[in-house]
Amino acid sequence: MVDLAGQHGRIQGELDAALLYAAKAGAYIQGPEVKSFATELADYLEVAHVIPCANGTDALQIALMALGLKPGDEVITATFTYVATAEVMALLGLTPVLVDVRPDTFSLDLEQVRAAIGPNTKAIVPVHLYGQAADMEDLMQFAQDHSLFVVEDCAQAIGATYTFSDGRQAKVGTIGHIGCTSFFPSKNLGCMGDGGAMYTQDATLAEQLRMIANHGQKVKYRHDVIGCNSRLDTLQAAVLRVKLPHLDAYIQARQEAAAYYDAGLGQFEGLVIPARNPASTHVFHQYTLQVKNGQRDALKAHLEAAGIPSMIYYPWPLHEQPAFASDRYPKGAFPAAEQLCQDVLSLPMHTELTPAIQDYILQTIHTFFQS
Ligand SMILES: *Cc1c(COP(=O)(O)O)cnc(C)c1O
Repeated sequence: MVDLAGQHGRIQGELDAALLYAAKAGAYIQGPEVKSFATELADYLEVAHVIPCANGTDALQIALMALGLKPGDEVITATFTYVATAEVMALLGLTPVLVDVRPDTFSLDLEQVRAAIGPNTKAIVPVHLYGQAADMEDLMQFAQDHSLFVVEDCAQAIGATYTFSDGRQAKVGTIGHIGCTSFFPSKNLGCMGDGGAMYTQDATLAEQLRMIANHGQKVKYRHDVIGCNSRLDTLQAAVLRVKLPHLDAYIQARQEAAAYYDAGLGQFEGLVIPARNPASTHVFHQYTLQVKNGQRDALKAHLEAAGIPSMIYYPWPLHEQPAFASDRYPKGAFPAAEQLCQDVLSLPMHTELTPAIQDYILQTIHTFFQS
């Protein structure tokens, strides 16, 4: 599914030098690499503040903590996402309110958000699933009209650009009040372990985020609020500083691979190639097909028999997970997400795909549909 050894091999000298330098310098916690990386990422994203932290899940948790929400406050998010998005809400005593997604782009459906809003709704967490933005312009307008916070889950979409109807452009994560990302190795900008970051344009929120990620302290041993311990490791920051200048090239490689898949797969009845949100670039964290007519698992097995990995992101929507089950969500509550869980199949997608590898994958899929 990914080829990190291949990706790192191309920049091995730079990575080795950066890691060795950081290892010898000895400032393993909050070393200068962390600060430099935060500045460089802020420049790349054109955002005022980047606060690194330990992983993408912590980023989401700290973001929600910084908004000053109370137990019982409701946060609306998509039922079709990775568990982390909603898990942190429940951990904080907030109530995740799950809603269905658009069947084409898999992102939060604003009509569903509208229907789910209530007196306790305080925030919305759109997920830029698979690498393209949710409908941020409408969502931000809606949030503003209802005085709601927006926390963007950008774990899969770092570097994607959103274009507003007036032509203004912004990187995902810099549009809502706080953006949260992950540097998990297989993400589009991955380190060699865990890592994450929060972004915001708001200086007050930035101070809160920084404080909460550091045991609620601004001054050492003076704890103003309840926080946690969530730091990006210096060695991981060193890796990320080497890789960040390559992010645009990584995105381009993924987009080219996606276009190659599109061209080879567009012609089959019962196979839906990824729809694009016209307002967003797609950075293709995943290239995800919809395999209709109940054929998904058979196609997956056919690929596996030919030595080709494929993955189901995600086999169940959150409202069908025991941990999130509620009378609020009977079976059939969210038909789009439930159908997607039956149909989605993600093909290998990474920066090291070649036409030869993709031709083999395409031929294998062709034989499936021709037999
Ligand atoms: C990966 C991911 C996360 C969590 O990031 P970690 O760094 O693994 O904690 C959250 N949301 C989404 C959508 C993700 O894909």
